[in-house]
Amino acid sequence: MECIFCKIAKREIPSDVVYEDEDIVAFRDIKPVAPIHVIVIPKEHIEGVHSLEDKHQALVGKLILKAKDIANQLNLKEGYRLVLNVGEYGGQTVSHIHLHIIGGRPMMWPPG
Ligand code: 5GP
Ligand code: ZN
Repeated sequence: MECIFCKIAKREIPSDVVYEDEDIVAFRDIKPVAPIHVIVIPKEHIEGVHSLEDKHQALVGKLILKAKDIANQLNLKEGYRLVLNVGEYGGQTVSHIHLHIIGGRPMMWPPG
């Protein structure tokens, strides 16, 4: 079975897309944990941070820079959290690398 985030990137599964370019798609999380919760993914299927290679350097940099632009667009002036869950203990449930943008309320630390 094909990856759910690849399907979202190909628009085979509907989602609330907030940004898209040739490399990246960003869409609202189906189960938001805060007033703003956006998932930013590369269109390329990469399983997670654990499987990144040197060739992905520019793409990963772009993911973070675009996350910043999207956060600004969504008016997250007070700040926000960027999260990369990695593997089972990291709480990663979808095996396609993704950056969470979470905001619209103060965040707690340490996380659970
Ligand atoms: P993870 O736990 O892997 O870091 O995050 C996966 C995120 O993807 C979760 O917050 C989950 O709610 C979200 N998610 C899973 N399936 C879908 C889906 O089909 N559509 C959208 N918009 N979000 C999804
Ligand atoms: Zn995928």
